[in-house]
Amino acid sequence: MTSASLAAVDPEIAQLIAAEELRQAQSVRLIPSENYTSAAVLEATGTVLTNKYSEGYPGRRYYEGQEHIDAVENLAIARAKQVFGVEHANVQPYSGSPANLAVYLAYCAPGDTVMGMALPAGGHLTHGHKVSATGKWFRSVQYGVRKDTGRIDLDEVRALARAERPRLIFCGGTAIPRTIDFAAFAEIAREIDALLVADIAHIAGLIAGGAHPSPVGHAEIITTTTHKTLRGPRGALLLSTQGHAKALDRAVFPGLQGGPHNHTTAAIAVALHEAAQPEFRDYARQVVANAKALGEGLAEHGFELISGGTDNHLLLIDLAGKDIPGKPVAQALDRAGIVCNYNTVPFDPRKPFDPSGIRLGTPAVTSRGMGPEEMGQIATWINEGVQAAWSHDEGTLMRIRGEVHEFTKAFPAPGVPV
Ligand SMILES: *Cc1c(COP(=O)(O)O)cnc(C)c1O
Repeated sequence: MTSASLAAVDPEIAQLIAAEELRQAQSVRLIPSENYTSAAVLEATGTVLTNKYSEGYPGRRYYEGQEHIDAVENLAIARAKQVFGVEHANVQPYSGSPANLAVYLAYCAPGDTVMGMALPAGGHLTHGHKVSATGKWFRSVQYGVRKDTGRIDLDEVRALARAERPRLIFCGGTAIPRTIDFAAFAEIAREIDALLVADIAHIAGLIAGGAHPSPVGHAEIITTTTHKTLRGPRGALLLSTQGHAKALDRAVFPGLQGGPHNHTTAAIAVALHEAAQPEFRDYARQVVANAKALGEGLAEHGFELISGGTDNHLLLIDLAGKDIPGKPVAQALDRAGIVCNYNTVPFDPRKPFDPSGIRLGTPAVTSRGMGPEEMGQIATWINEGVQAAWSHDEGTLMRIRGEVHEFTKAFPAPGVPV
């Protein structure tokens, strides 16, 4: 039993995983927070490192038997520092949300004022949204984007910051199609003596690959997931100047977490090794070029892009002009083999669970080797799919599904057995 394969031990789960492999191979995946990790990253996550308890940090553990685990974590730390050019890295946060919680724990007391981008404008739950612990335990003030430009209104950010004097300011988000002006945020934070935190969860891979400016030198604290554009396992990093090292490390452990997920730490180290290769720079550039091409293709079909386009991996589309909301479109496209998510658009007149937009991104399709030509094809399918959703034309959706399935065969997905 203990050496038998997954298929022999638990055929139900094995079958579901095989079905998910097929889905990931045969669909065009446009959710901007998703990607395909390499086979090497996957291999590292499925190892005996999951068997080991390692509370503490390398050289300072609460359990014996750490000679290999310490080496793994030290490698991950060294590579994170190297790839992002920072003085300190903590590789233990379980995911992006706990990484952000660690920052609050390190620098805020309950009731303190904090500031972040509003979720409906493109921020993240953990940037002080009202249903999140970060909105319940702190006094959260939220900034947005300008209605006319769809871009962050730095005048509003400055005015709010001066009026409310937050302890922390978060920049970064989940639905921001434009370059984040870290220097401008840093200036605002300096004016009111607040701590600037750059949450680069979505764009970490672009920054590592030189396709988006880095917050290093502007934000003393940087948080990121490792599983989005960075193309690693599900996990997170806390990056900072040396001055914040102690407070952040203590907040992660013992403040918030117990034992680190060593198998994840190893896989993060592998992903960072991959991100340090010259090819990763090509990947990051191609992600951005593909997003531009997809945006131009959609604009030609009459789609309205929030902010008029994109600087990064992500597109936010307002479907109001197409006379159909985001949810039925996302569901119809899914049936057609094109996977995205419905999303609020800034100043959305509709409810968050049934909003006006969809959100698209190119990290996963770029990992499959697709380029601008393929983005044009995908834009055409999306246009046909939206029309089919509007007219309840299931036949067209099934026709697209067949074409997508054929099309994906030419672009093997990393890490996915065929
Ligand atoms: C994805 C994301 C997170 C949270 O990451 P999880 O791993 O889902 O907890 C935090 N901040 C931003 C900006 C994100 O995009």
